Amino acid sequence: MGEARIIDGRAIAAELRRRVAEAAARLARATNRAVGLAAILVGDDPASDVYVRSKGRACSASGIASFERRLPADASPAAVIAEVERLNRDERVDGVLVQLPLPTPIDAHQVLAAIDPAKDVDGFHALNVGRLWSGLPGLVPCTPQGCMLLMRALRPDLSGAAAVVLGRSNIVGKPMAALLLAADCTVTMMHSRSRDAAAVCRAADILVAATGRPNLVGVDWVKPGAIVIDVGINPVAMPDGSSRIVGDVDYGAVSRVAGAITPVPGGVGPMTIACLLRNTVVAACRRRGLADPAV
Ligand code: NAP
Repeated sequence: MGEARIIDGRAIAAELRRRVAEAAARLARATNRAVGLAAILVGDDPASDVYVRSKGRACSASGIASFERRLPADASPAAVIAEVERLNRDERVDGVLVQLPLPTPIDAHQVLAAIDPAKDVDGFHALNVGRLWSGLPGLVPCTPQGCMLLMRALRPDLSGAAAVVLGRSNIVGKPMAALLLAADCTVTMMHSRSRDAAAVCRAADILVAATGRPNLVGVDWVKPGAIVIDVGINPVAMPDGSSRIVGDVDYGAVSRVAGAITPVPGGVGPMTIACLLRNTVVAACRRRGLADPAV
């Protein structure tokens, strides 16, 4: 087996962002109103702060207006929901996202349920989840949407492929399985209680790892020639005291047997934010009664 083809998420995401920026500009010209994305951040979790700032920067780079609403960590659920409702009513705002995780006393499901499904650019509202599983048009969660675009860049027709998804979170694993099923793959979902993980994964033509377990997927988990998509973002401590990000896949070993593989960083990560911008432009078109942009 030779070296796997490296799926360049940075390049594919950059191209998507370029097309999204063009669509946002066209829409703004045609309707005389900029596309807008609002993010609500509750509390002062440093990682969430970094994510919200980078979403703001990505918006500016794509000509999308960004709005940030910050609430203190002890904000009541009612205060968070009131902020969501204000943004639902705000005509300048096409997309509303609530940065997760929320501080523990706040029920994320209750807050997500308050988002106008037409502005739910994360695709986490139960209505959009139901639409995804029903094969109806809706807003699709960004990370699995990005994974699909990476796979399709490589192989446009995934029909009949055996796909295994490691992880069953609402954010990644479950919507990933729904999208693969919609693409006519035969899908197996695995989680922390699944048995014989290595043997099941070894039968996969497409393996998506979204567990948050550093280097879980070893070379004996991968069928020669398989497409391996590594969603994991795991900080690991290095002997010199620094930390570095690794995925859920043992990249060095697996890249010698896989047919294609996403690196971490530089694979799925850049696609997530590009798909958030894409969803925002899609939501903006639909809210203005226009057809979806070709992005
Ligand atoms: P999560 O909510 O913690 O879910 C992890 C899932 O993995 C759970 O369903 C868990 O099973 C399953 N799991 C744990 N150990 C397993 C094992 N040994 N074998 C099979 N399944 C196992 O995490 P998440 O939000 O889905 O995120 C997963 C990873 O992706 C994290 O590293 C996260 O940082 C990363 N991520 C990256 C992006 C990106 O843009 N690249 C976006 C989102 C998340 P149970 O349900 O049984 O507990």
